[in-house]
Order: sequence, then C-alpha cells, then structure tokens
Amino acid sequence: MSRVVDLLGTRPTLSFEFFPPGDGNAREQLAETLDTLSGLTPSFVSITCGAGGNGHDRTRDIVIDICGDRPFPAMAHLTCVGHTRGEIAALLDDYAAAGVVNILALAGDPPGGATISSDFRYASELVEMVRAHPAGFSVGVAAHPESHPRSPDRESDRRFLATKLNRADFAITQFFFDLADYTRLVEELADLGCHRPIIPGVMPVIWPRNVRRYAGMNGSTVPENLFTRLEGLSGPDRTIAAAEAATELAQSLLDAGAPGIHLYTLNRSEASMLIAASLSPQWRK
Ligand code: FAD
Repeated sequence: MSRVVDLLGTRPTLSFEFFPPGDGNAREQLAETLDTLSGLTPSFVSITCGAGGNGHDRTRDIVIDICGDRPFPAMAHLTCVGHTRGEIAALLDDYAAAGVVNILALAGDPPGGATISSDFRYASELVEMVRAHPAGFSVGVAAHPESHPRSPDRESDRRFLATKLNRADFAITQFFFDLADYTRLVEELADLGCHRPIIPGVMPVIWPRNVRRYAGMNGSTVPENLFTRLEGLSGPDRTIAAAEAATELAQSLLDAGAPGIHLYTLNRSEASMLIAASLSPQWRK
C-alpha cells in the first residue's frame, strides 16, 4: 500500500475526504460515492474520526476495508485528545497488522468543547507516538491557514505548526476560500524553516448552511457573495455553481505550486467529479 509521503512530489495528488456513515442509507451512499470516485484514480482517500469516546472504531473498520478492497490507500484520521496512550497504541497495532500505512495525527475536538481527561494535549505528542511505532507510518498533520481558532495569535500558531510539521511528513489544511491564505501559510512556515508539503483542503460548498456552521467552528472566513449566491440555488444548479467556485480555487492553488488537492466531499461524488473534469488536463500528467 502506497505511503502518502512517497506519492507527494512525483505529481500533484488528488485525494478525497469522507466521514464514517451513520445508518444503512448513509453507508450505501458512501459505497456509491467511493465507486464513482474510484474512476478518478485518487492518490489516496482519508476517513475522519470523532474525537474522544469510541469514534475510532468505525474509522478503523472503514479504512481497513478500503485498503483491502480498493486500488488506492486510505489514510486514517487519528485524534488523541480524550484518549489514553494505551488506546492509541492498540489502534496503531490494529492498523499496522492490517497493512494500513497512512495516519493523519490530530488533536481532535471533543464534543461540545467538553474538557475530558486525556494522556494527550496537543497533536505533536501524537505525532511522536506514531513516529515511534515500528510500522513506519507515513504521518500527516492538520494546518489552519487562517490560524487555529483557539490560538491567541497567528504567529504562535505558526510556530507550533512548524515544530509539529517538521516532525511529520506533510500537512493537509482546513478549508479556506482565498488563495492568499494558503500562500501566506506556506511562506510563513518557510520563514520558520519548515518546507514540508502542504496539501490544501478545498471544500465545494454543496450545502452552504452546513458549511457556514463548520466555518464558524474552525475559523474559516466565508465569502458572503459566494455563499449568498449558492443559498439562492438548489439541486444540480447549486452543485454545479459550488464545483465551479471550488475548481477556480483549486486551479489557482495548483498554479501557485500546491503539491495536490484534497477535496472535502461530504460523502458525495457529484461536485468532485465536476472539479476533477474541469481542472487543467495537464495537472495529473
Ligand atoms: P494541535 O496541533 O494540537 O493545535 C491545537 C491548538 O494548540 C492550536 O491553537 C495550536 O497553535 C496550539 N498548540 C499546539 N502545540 C502547542 C503547544 N506545545 N503549546 C501551546 N499551544 C500549542 N477533528 C476531529 O475530531 N476528527 C477528524 O477526523 C478531523 N480531521 C481533520 C482533518 C483536517 C485536514 C483538519 C485541518 C482538521 C481536522 N480535524 C478533525 C479538526 C482538528 O482536530 C481541530 O482543528 C483541533 O482543534 C486541532 O487539531 P490539531 O491537530 O491542529 O491540533
């Protein structure tokens, strides 16, 4: 199974993020989405996990299934806040035994902002633990172009991110809508001596109300013109308009030298198919 770190730098990567489905219908939806997006030969896909509690189990099962059934790797999101070192060690052993080689190491946000007892405080502690595992995982981390919402200032956030990322292999960003937020992140990390690949996360706004809510939680600035226009559309018209806006951002990111594009799919395939078809045909050659 390919390691994401080895895919980066050969040609721009195309990756998709999914969340573990709840009920039977949602499971069917995800299977259909995976079937459709497989046609785009993604470089890898990633599966989110809930923070705290037992959210890891569903993620682990889906990641292991995809790695067994599909011709592309699945990367497991692994959150550490609310967990013991023993729990994380057991999960890493499960992944290693199943041949899963890609981990996205995250702090995680416990539900409702609850403070829960934990062996971990920051994602960097998880990076150390994943790195120390004999399986030799490829390790990604999260980056927040507009800075993390709990950070007192961008400068300290960048410093902590540079230290964390230098111990990992690459980062994937939170979604954002302005190219300048990405280029500034890359430049500021370079100024701190961090030159690791940073894959931009692009969110096609197929459900503006939900995306507004996510943006409020993670500190992403919402472009009002785009959101107002999308809120006035519905059905396929909205999907097409959302895909057009996301394509424009993705193309400008690739033109600016981004090492790949990570699409937040919300478990749907339509917008991702349109985006992949509209990007410059050279980009994955
Ligand atoms: P950290 O790197 O620990 O940073 C959190 C905050 O602590 C930042 O403000 C940082 O500046 C600060 N900090 C870091 N180190 C120190 C230090 N040593 N001293 C003081 N301050 C410090 N959440 C989920 O629950 N499940 C998911 O599957 C998931 N997937 C994600 C995927 C991506 C691509 C991204 C970008 C985010 C994802 N998240 C997910 C959200 C993430 O868990 C939250 O944003 C969380 O609040 C921070 O995670 P982090 O890994 O960036 O944390």
